[in-house]
Order: sequence, then C-alpha cells, then structure tokens
Amino acid sequence: MPELTPMKKQYLEIKAQHPDCLLFFRLGDFYEMFDEDAKVAAEELNLTLTTRDRNKPLEERTPMCGVPYHSAEAYIARLIAKGYKVAICEQTEDPAQAKGLVDREVIRVVTPGTLIEENLLEEGKNNFLAALCATPAGAGLCFGDISTGEVVLTFFPAEGWANRAVNELARFAPREVLLSPGAADPALVDYGKNKLGCRIEQAGEAAFALDRAWERVRRQFTQGLDQVPQEAEAAIQAAGALLSYLYETQKTDLSYLHTLRYYAAGQFLELDPVARRNLELTETLRGKEKKGSLLWVLDKTKTAMGGRLLRSWMERPLLDPVAISRRLEAVGWLVDNAVEREELLQVLREIPDLERLISRIVYGTAGARDLVALAAGLERLPLLQNHLPGKSPSLLAKVRGALEGLPALTDLIARGIVDEPPFSVREGGLIRPGYHPDVDQLRELLTDTKGVIAKLEAAEKEKTGIKSLKVGFNKVFGYYIEVSKSYYDQVPPEYIRKQTLVNCERYITQELKDMEHTILSAQDRIVALEYQLFCEIRDQAAAQAAQIQEIAGAVAQADVLAAFALVAAENNYCMPLVDHSDKLEITEGRHPVVEKMLKDSLFVPNDTYMDGKDHRAAILTGPNMAGKSTYMRQVALMVLMAQMGSFVPARSAHIGVVDRIFTRIGASDDLAGGQSTFMVEMTEVAELLKHATPRSLLILDEIGRGTSTYDGMAIARAVLEWCANPRRLGAKTLFATHYHELTVLEGQLPGVKNYNIAARKKKDEILFLRKIVPGGADQSYGIEVASLAGLPPKLIRRAREILQELENQEAAPKRPAAREAKQVSLTALGEEEVLSTLRSTPVENLTPIQALNLLYELKGKL
Ligand code: ATP
Repeated sequence: MPELTPMKKQYLEIKAQHPDCLLFFRLGDFYEMFDEDAKVAAEELNLTLTTRDRNKPLEERTPMCGVPYHSAEAYIARLIAKGYKVAICEQTEDPAQAKGLVDREVIRVVTPGTLIEENLLEEGKNNFLAALCATPAGAGLCFGDISTGEVVLTFFPAEGWANRAVNELARFAPREVLLSPGAADPALVDYGKNKLGCRIEQAGEAAFALDRAWERVRRQFTQGLDQVPQEAEAAIQAAGALLSYLYETQKTDLSYLHTLRYYAAGQFLELDPVARRNLELTETLRGKEKKGSLLWVLDKTKTAMGGRLLRSWMERPLLDPVAISRRLEAVGWLVDNAVEREELLQVLREIPDLERLISRIVYGTAGARDLVALAAGLERLPLLQNHLPGKSPSLLAKVRGALEGLPALTDLIARGIVDEPPFSVREGGLIRPGYHPDVDQLRELLTDTKGVIAKLEAAEKEKTGIKSLKVGFNKVFGYYIEVSKSYYDQVPPEYIRKQTLVNCERYITQELKDMEHTILSAQDRIVALEYQLFCEIRDQAAAQAAQIQEIAGAVAQADVLAAFALVAAENNYCMPLVDHSDKLEITEGRHPVVEKMLKDSLFVPNDTYMDGKDHRAAILTGPNMAGKSTYMRQVALMVLMAQMGSFVPARSAHIGVVDRIFTRIGASDDLAGGQSTFMVEMTEVAELLKHATPRSLLILDEIGRGTSTYDGMAIARAVLEWCANPRRLGAKTLFATHYHELTVLEGQLPGVKNYNIAARKKKDEILFLRKIVPGGADQSYGIEVASLAGLPPKLIRRAREILQELENQEAAPKRPAAREAKQVSLTALGEEEVLSTLRSTPVENLTPIQALNLLYELKGKL
C-alpha cells in the first residue's frame, strides 16, 4: 500500500463523511474530484480524466478531474439535473497563513431539492424538497422550498396512504423526496422517479425519530405548529426528517423557514395524476409544453411570486365557497376597475422576486445587487397600494394593508449601497460615498496618494523650516523624508535616520510610517471595510425577513388576482356563483384553451345542466371529431377554475363545489410501465371507482374501447350504471361513448340523460355543428372523419362498401339472430343479473319484508 500524502488523507477523511455525494475538493482556483468521483464526473460532464502521479504504475495512479471555481455553478447544475448530490469542500483558512496543510471543510451539499441559486431555479416554479413518513398510524408528508421559505405539511390515515401520497407528490412536483423506511412503496417510488423525475433518497429510521423531530420542529418553526392535529405525528416526523436533511446539507442560517403551514385532507379539491395530466393543467398531454395548457391561458402574472402562487392555486383549488367567493369578489373588482388594474399590472412588472431575494439574504448568498433590487421592490409598494381599494372587497383590502413598505430599510440600502454595485461583494466599490467616513478617507487616499504626500511634505516643511525637505519613496525603505546637508541642524529629534547619502540624509517618522501603512494597506482595508458594512446592511434586511415574506405573499396575491381579472376581461369570462348546492349549471360555456387555439373558426359555446337528482349523468354521443372530449373537459376546467377563484369562460355559471375531479380520457399506453392500453384504462377506472364520492365530478371518455365490442360495451354500461346509481356512487358523470346502444339507459336508469353533438351529413361530407342537443346520436360518421384525416380515397371507398355489406347483413331477414342477439346482449344485462339473483335466492327462507325489498331491488335493475 503506497504512503498517502497528507492532502490525500484529508481528502479521504472528508469523502468518507459524504459517501453518497460527488466531492468538489477546492485546490487553489479549481475544484478537483478524485477516484470514482472523478470517473463519474468526467463522464457526466465530458471532462478529461487526468492523474497527478504519472510516474507510478498505471493501477496506482489516482484518476482526477477538475473544474475552475468561477464556473463551477454550471457544472454543478448539470450534475444536479442528473440526480447527483454535490458536496462543496472549501479551503477554510487562507493558504498564505496556513502552517502546513490548509484546513478544508464541506460548506454545503447541493442537492436537487435544496437549490437556492437564482440561475439554477425556474422563476415561476417552486423547488420543493419532500419528506414522507409512513407509519402504521398514518402517513405524514412535508414539503419545503428553501428558495422561498415555504414549508407545508399534511397527514393522512394509513389506509390508502400510498395513493394519497402520490396525489400530493403530483400536486407539489418536488425535485427530491426523502422516504422513511416504511414509505418505499414500489408504485410511489416508480411514480416519483419516472413520472416526476425526482431524486429519491431512502433515509434511515433515525432521521424520522419522533422525539428528535419534535425538537427540531419546535426550534425551527415559530408559527403554525398549533395547527397540526395531535394524531398527525407522522407529519411531525416528516418535517423533522426534512429539517435534518436541510441542516446536514445547508450548514447555514435557515431562520427564514419559520412558518409551518398544515393542511388537512378535504381542504382542497383533489386531482389525481391522471386527471391532472388529462386536463392539461400545466402542460399538454402530447408535447409536454406550457402552450396549450390551462396555465398558459391563465398565467398572466407579472412577478415570479405571482407565477408560483397561481400554480399553487391551480394545484390546490378550494372547497370552501366562502373563501372562493372572497377571491372571486376581488377578481370582480379588478375586472370592473380596468384603469386600476392596468396601473397595478404596470407596477407589478417592476417588482423583483422578493421571496427568493430575502431567502438568499438570510441564507447569506445575496450580493449587493440583491439588496438594491430588494429596495427597489420595496419602494414600489406604495404605488401598488394606490391602485387597490381600502375597504372592500375584503381580500384586496387585506392585500393593500400588507403592502406597507419598510422605509427605514429602503433608506438604509439607498444610503449605503451604490446604484449599480459590482457582482462580487469582496472586491469593494459597493458602498456609496458619504455613508461611512473611513471608506471615504480610504478612497481619497487611494485615488490621491500624490496629493496626500504633498500635503504631508508641505506640513513638515513648515514645521521644521527646512526648505529643501522632500518626501520620497523607494522599494527598500518605503516612504522617507530627505533633508539636504545644509539643514542637518534643523532636523527635529523625532526624525529617525535611515540612510546617509553624499549630499543628504533620509529619515522616517512615526507619522510617515503610519501614512505609509495606510496607503499600502488601503486597498485591502477598503475591501474588508466595504464587505463588513455590506454585511451589516444585509443583516438589517435579514432581520426583517418575516415582514418581507409577508409583503411578498401579498404581492403574489395581488398579482394572481389581477392576472385572473385581465384574463377574464380579455376573454369575456363571467363570475361564477359558487356554493354548496348540487348544481352545475353553465350557459354558453367554452373551453378556455381550445377557444384560444382555434384559428379559422369560432368556438361554439354550449350549455350544461347537472344536478344530484334527475340530471346526474349525461351520456354524450356524436360523431368522431364532434367535440365530445372538448365539451367534457371544458365542464371540468370551469369547475376547477371557479374553485381556484377565477372567472370562467361562460355567459353565466352556477357551480356547486365538487370534492374531486376524475377523468378517464382517451387511450394511453404505458408500455414502458408494462401495461397495455386496456389495462391502463381499467386500472384508471378502478382507481376512480374506489375513491370517487357523490360530490365528485367524473369525466369518462370512451370507456371500454380497448377490448372486443361486447366486452367493452358491457363494461361501459356497468361502469355507467355504477356511477349514476346513488346506491353505488351517484356522482355527477359525463360519459362520452360511441356505443350508441347505451342511450337506452335514459328512462331505465334514474338521473341519466342523453345528449349528442349535432353534425350533418352533406353527400359524403360531414358538417360539424358543435352544438350539444338532447337525445342520442345514431351514427359515428367514422368513415367521413377518416376521409377528412386524409386516408386514400380508394381505401375510403372500400370502407364504405364494407359498411354497406355489414348493414345489409344486419338488415337481411335471414340473419335476424345477429341483430337480436346484439340488442339482447345489451338490454339483457340487467335481466341477466335479475335472473341469476333469483336463481340463487332461497325464496322459502325470506320474510315478507325481505321479499318485498328484493322485488323492489330487482325491478330497479330492469
Ligand atoms: P373523438 O370521438 O374522435 O374522440 P371528439 O368528439 O371527442 O372526437 P374533440 O376531440 O372534442 O372531438 O374535438 C375535435 C376538435 O373539434 C377539437 O380539437 C376542436 O378543434 C374542435 N371543437 C371541439 N369543440 C368545439 C366547439 N365547441 N367549437 C368549435 N370547435 C370545437
């Protein structure tokens, strides 16, 4: 075993403490990586692998690679994006002062869920770290974003915890998740890794220990703990693990994470990942792009804080009509007061990301530019206030009240920091003249060394009366006073002789030496002093973190409400009436996204009426391409928008809050996940039936399409019966299908109504009217749509022939059985059930009441 150098020993010791990280080891101007880390980094970052010990045999050489410290951030970003953790090890003493080996220490571990660097973060998006703790008593989930200071917490019962956890993960889309030993559910891990693309860390039992968690949580959070219910211990454990991870990786001041926000199940409208994806809330299904999503239409926010809040309102729509109406009233005021709204939006444009600024300020990575940006933002608050109402609507008045500026801090920053400070805070040039006398004096000294020396020379001349006295400088003695021979007798006693030349002597004085020191060290001192003053100002700002966070929250709200109002005004939306009723009544509703994407035609508005009684389920038939999916989604999106607090694209809307929206739309393969189209479809339906309640809204598009006609039809009918039947589920259901045979259910099943989307056939062409009308459709016009899609005319002709043959066969008297069999197989589904129940019932054992009930139930099935 070759002898290790002291530095390599130091490296190995530090590396041993961070085995799961790539260690960036600072050596002068570079971060170096060694051994396995070097190999990984070289491959991931396309760096050249080198070695220091070329003279050694190949197998003994240490592989290494490095990146310059000033461009490290970009390399770190690439590693983080690939799911690595990077430990930054710095030199913690000045190499010039070090005796022997320079001290080194890991100052931070950078991980995907703990980013704070502006360049590594997306503006309008949170960057969450999550911790999930599953225990037999229930599961707790905590999300924290150290770039904004937001920490939220929830708890759900043990039954079905993994499913709930997946829904919440989908909502928050964290970049990194810490799992307790009991929380490694395979489906959840798969969802996190492959769908959300987040880093998953399996943490140990100790990180989640309850007593330590309480300790950490109590120490860190000064607000919100009282909202956590007693039974939610797993939530505290999750928060404890989250904190423990932050302490281990950040090693800095995290006091700006002071408020824990607890939310309970049932506080927000729930959407599972399938619904979220199908409704294209933040990205489109196919292209995964923002354009074409609901967010693309609604996100007219002007600040990064507003952008993030809008996303979170979209991810967490409300259930409480009072809270929803509060938002709606605020939006209403901003719709009506167009001038104020425009002015507000203008000012908002100029407000920087106060939330992330204050986080960096407390965290300690903010520069002078950040302070200037903070002050500039704070200064504009009164302008925002000017455009908001003082009393009502209450939400805007509250926002207005919270937008009080912090004049003392703004003034301090304005007095202390120059308008355009340099990027670095360690090279001077950032403190404003007049702020501190020492800075001014040092600056004067640096810019006017000659003048200072001339002044001293003149003063000495006058004091001593030596006319030929000169102040000079050389490299050996530094500054000196030179006196020519003829004046030797006038040299004052405090002059110290340093050098005798032929015609003169050179002296120094204490004052001169002090001056020399001042001049020569001025550069260092001014840099240090400016940095110290900057830190003092930054600390002053950090001390106001809580107020600034509150202000940021109010700015974000003003921004989202103004954005909603702008979208409503520009697109002619209406204020929905939201209450606890079972109504879903929309006149002239439109799809918010499709209406914006249509280029050559106008969107045709449609009405909707649903309630908990006679209009519980709507069967929607109509040709391909008629607009069935569009219609169903538009209803779901309007409900969601209303519960977010936004106006909706309709002439009028009355929306009784729904607790969950489920969707089953279109065929989607999950071949990579090992599931066929039909399996995916049925899994989604199974999930939906398991979790839906009578207050849910179900959007079911083409159930049963992925299998043989009769199987599919049977399943479709059974699902519809289940959903519409109040004794089973009885939820509001929109059900689009090409099985026209299902329309017989109107009249058979209470609460089911038929609708179709009108289309007209003109010769071989089809005219889409896009209008929803009562009643079922009789045809699918599939061939016409295939022709529209550009299938070869010959093929289309052949298809028509085949269709004709099939229809002839069905109509031919010699084959009545086929037609009959089909009809029977559909309507007989209820009869089948009745017969089999009768066959298996021991009638002789029934009491009269039981017999009556049974009869009643059987009749209901027909
Ligand atoms: P399929 O049965 O083939 O799935 P579909 O009936 O579900 O078809 P959609 O996908 O909803 O049809 O609509 C097809 C296209 O028709 C949409 O992409 C849109 O461009 C247009 N469209 C739908 N509804 C309307 C409307 N109300 N007004 C104008 N255009 C519409």
